Amino acid sequence: MISPVETWVAERTGLRDNLNPETLKKWQLGKLSALIQYACENTKFYHEKLHSTSDITELPFTSPSDIAADPFAFLAIPQSLVARVTTLANSGTTHLKKRIFFSKADLERTIDFFAVGMSTMVRKGEKSQILISNRTENSLGSLLKESLLRIGVTSEISGTIKSVNAAIEASKGGDCLIGMPAEMLYMSHKAPELRPRSVLLAADYIPQSLINGIKETWKCDVFTHYGHSEFGFGCAVDCDQHNGYHLRDADLIFEIIDFKTGKSAKIGESGEIVITTLSNEAMPLIRYRTGNISRFINTPCGCGSLLPRLGSIEGRISSYIPIGEGKVLSIHQLDEIIFADPNVRSFDASIKNDKVMKTLLLTVDSNGSIDLDSFSDKLPKSINVEVKYDKVDPFSHRAKRRINIVS
Ligand SMILES: [Zn+2]
Repeated sequence: MISPVETWVAERTGLRDNLNPETLKKWQLGKLSALIQYACENTKFYHEKLHSTSDITELPFTSPSDIAADPFAFLAIPQSLVARVTTLANSGTTHLKKRIFFSKADLERTIDFFAVGMSTMVRKGEKSQILISNRTENSLGSLLKESLLRIGVTSEISGTIKSVNAAIEASKGGDCLIGMPAEMLYMSHKAPELRPRSVLLAADYIPQSLINGIKETWKCDVFTHYGHSEFGFGCAVDCDQHNGYHLRDADLIFEIIDFKTGKSAKIGESGEIVITTLSNEAMPLIRYRTGNISRFINTPCGCGSLLPRLGSIEGRISSYIPIGEGKVLSIHQLDEIIFADPNVRSFDASIKNDKVMKTLLLTVDSNGSIDLDSFSDKLPKSINVEVKYDKVDPFSHRAKRRINIVS
């Protein structure tokens, strides 16, 4: 079945049977002109920064710190019309927080896209368990629940859960489980009998080794999603071919840039994902640097789609930690290596700095010892590794995965 996202893009753009990469690009550039005018007229930030152009690469970038410095400079509607505000920590700064504004229409577009994306993995009459977010009005979980209702799927938002046992209890009878990658892997080890029909991994980087682990234990289909609060949460979702994310092209323009030079990366080359919002009413964002690394896939998808897709997220620029000798280490590298061991249920990582050498401290929740020799081979030589074995329940400290720095 062709990805429902493609069908949705064809409908939303009005291109229908004429939808192809060229007609889509032309349609998006038409929308870009209107966006430039809207952002110039209605926001303090873009007021004098933009000029009319059909070449998006001529426009300046927007960075997360721009929003953190003055969120209201991006607000394009009266405050009385803001339906939701999300406050996010800004990686890279310790004290500034980003505030993201949504109008009612922005939230409605999110619900609309969620319904399309979720129809890839759920069937009418099924039940889903949402293990991310909370139950407050217009929360990510509530928007997801509303979208599922529209396609005949009931759902429950777990809300505050602080242990894997509570998550397992809440998930009994769920056909589709929606959760963070490391939490879902841990659950699959702890409760192999749950056997949901499908799983959607979201809200954090998704290592392929972890997808394989969940599939192996639960024998279910595992879907992945790429989203950002800044763009109304949902940006892209894979199809049943699991070969790249189908993009929310009717609302967003995606670019991949060389994060050092800022120039467009070649097709197939990895770089930073940059997104421009075409429809955001409350907070238009132009060439927003996400800090996430990926690449475009422009070969046809097995589902029949001919539009470019986004490859898996390869990392976050901010998560690379210098470890000496010009080398860097990230949680993404560690996840791919350590979760590839089928005995590993979960692990935490920290780096301890001392004067002589950096030490990587791993606390591993596993059925047996990890093969440290083969494992060390895959790490830079400049780093010492210490491993201890203990219970590591990711539900006890729910957050995006990172390497902690210990001094
Ligand atoms: Zn596809």
